[in-house]
Amino acid sequence: MRKDEITGLVQILGFSVEDMSFQERKGQIPEVRIRLTRDKPWYCCAGCGQYYLTYYDCQPCEVRDLSYGQWKKSYLVFDKVRVKCMRCGVKTEKLEWLEPYARLTRRFEQEVAQECRFLQSIKTVAKRLHLHWETVKEIDKKYLLKELEPPDFKGVEELAVDEIALKKNHHYATVIAEAYRNRVLGVEKDRTEKSLGRFYKKLGKKGCALIKAVAMDMWTPYEKATRKYCLKAEIVYDQFHIIQNYGKIIDKVRNMEFAKAKKEEQKVFKGTKYLLLSNRAKVRGNNRVRLDDLLKVNQSLTIVYLLKDDLKHLWDYRYEGWARKWFEGWESRAKDSGIEPLIKFAESLKEHLRGILAHCRYGISTSFLEGMNNKIKVIKRIAFGFRDMEYFFLKIRGAFTE
Ligand SMILES: [Zn+2]
Repeated sequence: MRKDEITGLVQILGFSVEDMSFQERKGQIPEVRIRLTRDKPWYCCAGCGQYYLTYYDCQPCEVRDLSYGQWKKSYLVFDKVRVKCMRCGVKTEKLEWLEPYARLTRRFEQEVAQECRFLQSIKTVAKRLHLHWETVKEIDKKYLLKELEPPDFKGVEELAVDEIALKKNHHYATVIAEAYRNRVLGVEKDRTEKSLGRFYKKLGKKGCALIKAVAMDMWTPYEKATRKYCLKAEIVYDQFHIIQNYGKIIDKVRNMEFAKAKKEEQKVFKGTKYLLLSNRAKVRGNNRVRLDDLLKVNQSLTIVYLLKDDLKHLWDYRYEGWARKWFEGWESRAKDSGIEPLIKFAESLKEHLRGILAHCRYGISTSFLEGMNNKIKVIKRIAFGFRDMEYFFLKIRGAFTE
């Protein structure tokens, strides 16, 4: 790109191109420095917007701008002034194209933020735009904050709350989403009552009063926080978590039965742990034979296995009365089985029955949050571990804005 072409492209409000110098060295990125002069001798206070004809002091300044053709690194060079404002004291001047203290022009920052939006790694963006990793991250964070803070709670009536695992060894975060839309409203550290409480505080008294239902796992801290802040909200325990917990019962019974089994029967148990957790209709071929062999020799496991598939029907009902009746039937079969872990599980379901049957009235679940996990894995990589938790949480919200 030639000098006159660049001059035509620069277009900085209130400034004209005076001169430029090029730098091309072997093994280095070609650079252009564009010297700007001020069109008019007045200066605007960044604090209050008052114009002044004189300035307090001035300092040469160099900021990165968009690339110009082969000149991948471009710098705008100009004199930045400070004004002595009657109201604000000594202040840097206000420039439309450059935020106070920024090292990049606003339009270049916008390009960086845009690139980061497509879930590219920071490393990739940094490399492409010839910037430092940290610079890219800070700009991305700044723009996410601008866009996402404060969160837009307008019209929010149903929530879905779930935990996500951050690291191994029990590091968690709580994710709060709008139940019918793929929109994350908040991410909070840990999965305690306080975690969700922090979110409800941000939602505010008025916002909390509008919440009609909250979908969640049978996790007491979430329930407590919800009861404390959202007095009118119905708690909806969702199917995914209940069936997942049931998986633990199957596992327990399998271990108990294995310990009781005779040597030759124990062989049948081998490698069936995951088969028992899967849907029988989807188990095919050799696996199906193994599953059926196991169920043939062990009556307790058969009962536990069949009751799992049956339990899922509870979510087919749309009328609470029918759902309740159906559950009572299921419960008595569980009790009749005499299998201790299963009986306990049935009892715990009964204690939480109101919240389980609430799905009839509010068809909400946390399934959208379950599906988030893959995207979150990508974000984890992008956000480069968890050195900056705030950034990581913003990234999650940014990825699920609708
Ligand atoms: Zn001022």
